[in-house]
Amino acid sequence: MTSPITFDPSLVDMPRGHFIGGRFVESGDTLSVASPSDGQVRAEVCAGGAALVDRAVQDAAHAQATSGWATCAPRERGRVLRRWADLVEAHRDELARLESVCSTRPIRETTAWDVPFTAEGLRFFAEYADKLGGEVAATQSDLLGMVIGEPYGVIGAIAPWNFPLVMGSWKVAPALVAGNAVVIKPSEMTPFSIVRLAQLGIEAGLPAGLFNVVQGEGGVVGEALSRHPLCGKLTFTGSTRTGVAVMTAAAESGPKPVTLELGGKSPQIVHDDIRSVETVAARIFRAFTGNAGQVCVSGSRLIVHRKVADELVERLVSLTGTVAPGMTWDGDTAYSPVISARQADGIEAIVARSLAVGATAVAPLRRLACPGDGRFLSPCVLTGVSEQTPAVREEIFGPVLTVQTFEDEDEALSLAAHPVYGLAAGVHTSDLGRAMRAVRSLKAGTVWVNRYGRSSDFVIPTGGFGGSGIGKDLGRQAVEANLRHKSVLMAFGE
Ligand code: NAD
Repeated sequence: MTSPITFDPSLVDMPRGHFIGGRFVESGDTLSVASPSDGQVRAEVCAGGAALVDRAVQDAAHAQATSGWATCAPRERGRVLRRWADLVEAHRDELARLESVCSTRPIRETTAWDVPFTAEGLRFFAEYADKLGGEVAATQSDLLGMVIGEPYGVIGAIAPWNFPLVMGSWKVAPALVAGNAVVIKPSEMTPFSIVRLAQLGIEAGLPAGLFNVVQGEGGVVGEALSRHPLCGKLTFTGSTRTGVAVMTAAAESGPKPVTLELGGKSPQIVHDDIRSVETVAARIFRAFTGNAGQVCVSGSRLIVHRKVADELVERLVSLTGTVAPGMTWDGDTAYSPVISARQADGIEAIVARSLAVGATAVAPLRRLACPGDGRFLSPCVLTGVSEQTPAVREEIFGPVLTVQTFEDEDEALSLAAHPVYGLAAGVHTSDLGRAMRAVRSLKAGTVWVNRYGRSSDFVIPTGGFGGSGIGKDLGRQAVEANLRHKSVLMAFGE
């Protein structure tokens, strides 16, 4: 699909309200939502407060308890999710526009990937609806033991701005399939697509009140949701700092369990036995420039064997000249803008601090010219760095790659270890033994070998270790995490 280069508001019907109890609800305060690709404010969206969060959670709890969603034949929940997936596909272009209008996701990406991927995710979770049997054990001849998975009731979900629809649906779908209701707070910078997803859920047969959206600022709506006593569990994706705030609120108001998908600083180890430097260069380039580096698993630390370092870095530097900024709704645009001026300033500041302590920019970070007040940064490659360099230690969430070299495997693994983060890692080698030793040694929730990044392998969960989080999205684990397990011991005798 090709969209016009000049933004046409008639193409996108941006919902300005919250979605509670199956209906749009408006509230007094508003927030401006701008497009990062030209800086223009596209819409004003309602901003809720604690009272609205309370109303949404109460409605959700009531719907979960009375609608029959949790008590129906489980396959019925699966049917609704499959119908929902069909509707998402049928509304692909509309959802893609809502997703692209104020986010960093170019329209050709949202059309080809984000929306179809969301539909596939709904289908994946639908399959679990009638496969969540508990456990039965005849512990003694006159005693039957059972473990029954039950929904928590209401799940509070908080989502980031980088993949609003995909990340949001990964929270909502497993919670619903397990019989819960959900109240989600999307990022205030990308509020639209999730509301349309909720509306389509109702059309697919989801009872009203099962999927609620409250818009607003994190410190207000996210905080109130995290502390709400009727939220049985919280699921959060965002920065490590906010994750700690959510977990603290969950502990103080419960305690209640949390799933936290947090930040990362993921290493990519390249050995000297790779078959093609060109292929690996292209893979590494995509891994740190996709969505302009605003990806939690961005492969932002290159750890490369000294023998192949020069050639690999040279190829990476030449690839940095291939990106072109463009409007996110222009069908030809492939490179993403940076979400906000604050984010762009933050990326530049970390690079500047790194240069000040001796790093060399073999590909400098530059603002790329673009129409309007868009924010595009060129891919940047930094050499001459150490474990103390800010760009090596801190999550940048921008298109910046640091390069460190090694002589042997142990040195590579030691450089790959990060004191805080453990989200993902990549190993590029033609030696299976090396690959497996790295897999065993790396502190990372996901290790990719000879590839980097996710495709539609939903059965493989995602989630980090250490400062990168707790628990998993996707996989059977994501569904299980939305159930609490009740143990039953039933005696047959006197
Ligand atoms: P963020 O932490 O700033 O915000 C995430 C969400 O939390 C937003 O909806 C925000 O409004 C809300 N929030 C802010 N303050 C809050 C508070 N006090 N209480 C409750 N909620 C609050 O993160 P972001 O900038 O939206 O996203 C980027 C970060 O997310 C990066 O660190 C990235 O690595 C991480 N991320 C992780 C994953 C993963 O799967 N591990 C995926 C995507 C993004």
